[in-house]
Amino acid sequence: MRTSIEPASIAMLDQHDPLRSKRDAFLLPEGVIYLDGNSLGPVPKAALRELKIAAEQEWGEDLIRSWNKAGWFDLPGTLGDRIARLIGAAPGETVITDTASINIYKALHAGLNLRPDRSAVVAEGSGFPTDIYMIEGVASVRPDMRIRLEGVDGPRIEDLIDDDVAVVLVNHVDYRTGMLRDMAALTGRIHEAGAIAIWDLCHSAGVLKVDLNANGADFAVGCTYKYLNGGPGAPAFVFAATRHHGKLSQPLTGWWGHASPFAFDRSFRPGHGIRPMLCGTQPILSMRALAGALEVWEDVELDQVREKSLRLTDLFIALVEEGCGSFGVTVAVPHERTARGSQVSLRHPHGYEIMQALIDKGVIGDFRSPDFMRFGFAPLYLSYTDVYVAASILYDILADGTWRASRFANRATVT
Ligand SMILES: *Cc1c(COP(=O)(O)O)cnc(C)c1O
Repeated sequence: MRTSIEPASIAMLDQHDPLRSKRDAFLLPEGVIYLDGNSLGPVPKAALRELKIAAEQEWGEDLIRSWNKAGWFDLPGTLGDRIARLIGAAPGETVITDTASINIYKALHAGLNLRPDRSAVVAEGSGFPTDIYMIEGVASVRPDMRIRLEGVDGPRIEDLIDDDVAVVLVNHVDYRTGMLRDMAALTGRIHEAGAIAIWDLCHSAGVLKVDLNANGADFAVGCTYKYLNGGPGAPAFVFAATRHHGKLSQPLTGWWGHASPFAFDRSFRPGHGIRPMLCGTQPILSMRALAGALEVWEDVELDQVREKSLRLTDLFIALVEEGCGSFGVTVAVPHERTARGSQVSLRHPHGYEIMQALIDKGVIGDFRSPDFMRFGFAPLYLSYTDVYVAASILYDILADGTWRASRFANRATVT
């Protein structure tokens, strides 16, 4: 790859990287440059340690006593409060529970219940499909509800918001393009119309300085297995602003959301604060792994994370445009830093095959239909040198046509 960017300047960036020691907190296989932390974060060493303690000691030795003794019952709240700092929430506003999809379902109902005289829900037509599927699921039990989608019912989400809108569900960072929304401006517009704002943070929690309360968000949901590295299927989080506590209601009224679960009352009475967003028993082993994963964040400054993330993506974009542009690769993520999350999406008609060829060479990203190659840049374990090497391998694959080998065209179930 021929480029004006000097390898020496890249080594300097690594030398002066305030986050460079964080890589040691993760187990990463030799010979792999991992650019898929936006889909499944790698394993933090502390997560393995906690998982072992949880399995052998808490489950194996202490058995049922661990619900109290090891604080299992309180994990949704204690872990939620540890994530709060990363998303700009106050203590008591966030719980770890269920999946992002289920939390979207609950938050949509809760938002609609706060605006009973309105009927519309607004979302992105090109948003992550589960978000739209869950909206359809909510609509199936609320026959008066109307759905308005950006890109279907109007070009911009802002133009779909009027005084019949109860709830707007929007992604902070688009899963496919990596575009970042202005949370302050859009939440302001949503509130001006009297509606409720639900932010999906799946692609921003852990890589951006998310500021839910400063921006007035009403609800938020997000994954913990992506940039928060909680492990495959680790439960998600849901945030509800304190001003809505006492008025939270959603239809999955399981016993964990009850005011007094161990009173075993005949009828549901909602618990205090954020508790009505809980439903039932959670995957404790996964939560204990997440507890370990969150240790990595304890001394991390999110401003440093964001700055490094922008430098990593700046560098990758520059290398790809200088080196790979002539092979028909285009950059889909916005160039403006204020409109960019922490991933770079490249488009190419043979993006699937090119990604398989990259993975074969140890550069792991992923592919999203129809032609997006996604590269996620997680500042805690990636170096500037990794970015340089990944871009050169991409260049080699394009230049010598390695990706044309027929084995790279076989589509796997998970892309
Ligand atoms: C990854 C992701 C989800 C995942 O939902 P699950 O219920 O955890 O499978 C939801 N929304 C967005 C935007 C995502 O990126």
